Amino acid sequence: MSAPAEIPSAGIVVFLLAALLCGATAGWSWRHRRITPAATALAALMAGAGGWAACAGLLHLGVPVLAERVVHVVNYAAIHLLIASTLCMTWAVVDPSWRLRRRTLAVLALVPAVVVLVVATDAWHHLFYSGYEDTAGYPKLVFGPAFWAHSAYCYALLTWSMARLVRGWWRASSIFRKQLGSLIAGALLPTALNAVTLSAPQVFSGVDYTPVFFVLTGLIMARALFRQGLLQVVPVARAQVVDTLQDGVFVVDHAGRVVDVNRAGQTMIRRIRPDLPAELVGLPAREVLRRPEVRPLLEETCQRIVEVAPGLHLDLRSSVHVDARGNLLARVVTARDVSEAVAADRALREHVATIEELREQLQEEAVRDALTGLHNRRHLMASLDRALADAAATGEPVGLVLMDVDHFKSVNDTHGHQVGDDVLCAVAHSLLAGTREGDTVARYGGEEFVVLLPGAGVEATMRRAEQIRTRCEATVVPLVGADGPRSLSVTISAGVAVHPADGADARALVAAADAALYAAKAGGRNRVVLAR
Ligand code: GH3
Ligand code: MG
Ligand code: MG
Repeated sequence: MSAPAEIPSAGIVVFLLAALLCGATAGWSWRHRRITPAATALAALMAGAGGWAACAGLLHLGVPVLAERVVHVVNYAAIHLLIASTLCMTWAVVDPSWRLRRRTLAVLALVPAVVVLVVATDAWHHLFYSGYEDTAGYPKLVFGPAFWAHSAYCYALLTWSMARLVRGWWRASSIFRKQLGSLIAGALLPTALNAVTLSAPQVFSGVDYTPVFFVLTGLIMARALFRQGLLQVVPVARAQVVDTLQDGVFVVDHAGRVVDVNRAGQTMIRRIRPDLPAELVGLPAREVLRRPEVRPLLEETCQRIVEVAPGLHLDLRSSVHVDARGNLLARVVTARDVSEAVAADRALREHVATIEELREQLQEEAVRDALTGLHNRRHLMASLDRALADAAATGEPVGLVLMDVDHFKSVNDTHGHQVGDDVLCAVAHSLLAGTREGDTVARYGGEEFVVLLPGAGVEATMRRAEQIRTRCEATVVPLVGADGPRSLSVTISAGVAVHPADGADARALVAAADAALYAAKAGGRNRVVLAR
């Protein structure tokens, strides 16, 4: 953007060579434009730089006045192409979902169109160049207000591009920082040299070598594009994969700072910690993931399900990424919302518990008598079979007491069936008192009961039968009638049989006890009779 100065022909060759190299890089990038929109932008950027270098070379070479005007116009068009495509490239790198829209293109083309028009007509108004002056022996163009407006615009766009790149660098994980850093350096280099050329032209003998330095920019950026795969990796990994994941992804650097959070992660954090700032990058991870159950994930590779907010269950997993030397690069914590699965699991567990409870209840009811709560006849017979089988193995005796309530019919007849039921319950209760573990107390029939005493011989069984009889005799059932409260008591008769002497099998043993019970009834009731 400075005046054509006297330079050696080698200088002109440098400009033309730079134009060729920029053009080659532009062509190379264009051929690979399918990889990423950033490649197209780089192609345009290098085409602009090439055009600028070519025009500078031609102007230094010296062309007829009319051609010089055309070259000036092309030169400024190329510069604006370069500036606008630099902005587009930073957009494409920092936000990979970005696409050049027609409206943006129209806005970006508007200023260059005006600049080109002003430059083309400069001979009439001299708003762009107002003449030459001699500074320290070098001819220097005196710039008009339109030139400064154009320069301000260019630097504003470049500053914007730089700010976006730096912000992208700050937010990027450490893996991408180095590569974004090289992009920043690539863009800064010619900008800095152009600033030097504008402010101190004597440094480069009055020659503006800015387009030549874009060869370096092109090489740095093309390396990033085709060697480091930055422009391939960034859009694919960050936008197409990480941001579209439904799982939250948190990347924490070696110093424990959050260096990346994907969209899902941000949404989750906003639900858990609405007090945190919108920008999580840069915050200490311990501050963001504050719950004590979550802490271990920041210290070791582990997995756990944590209820981070009422009803919000996260399946959290942490992993580490190390470099080739084993140094920690980053810790990655992924968070999957498993609230629905946890709720379904909880409901299922509750259902299973209820079913298990009902099953146990049913099983218990199947072996119980509904009125007295004692075991029923079916259970008694099964227990007797088991006891006899055990006895066959151990040689132990098995005592059996068969009882019948005396004159129970008259209880029903006199006091009613309800009182009869109450009496049966009272008898059942007295039978249970004094039972040992392993004994079975069962309601055998209407008002008939059995106490099975595995391991009890004749003496022990007779003693227990007698205890039961006396306890029953002493049991009082309260009665409430029209003539005031009264009470009722009943007696029982019992027949005792002991295996093996009185019966080898269940049938024989019960029959022996039944015969003894009959004898007890016949003998006057309220007594215990031993079979045999
Ligand atoms: P015994 O001394 O000879 O045994 O005389 P008993 O009156 O007890 O004679 P029996 O065995 O014939 O009578 C039994 C009665 O028990 C008949 C029946 O109505 C009654 N009974 C049977 N099951 C129940 C019951 O669940 N509730 C009530 N209230 N009565 C029952
Ligand atoms: Mg009976
Ligand atoms: Mg009876």
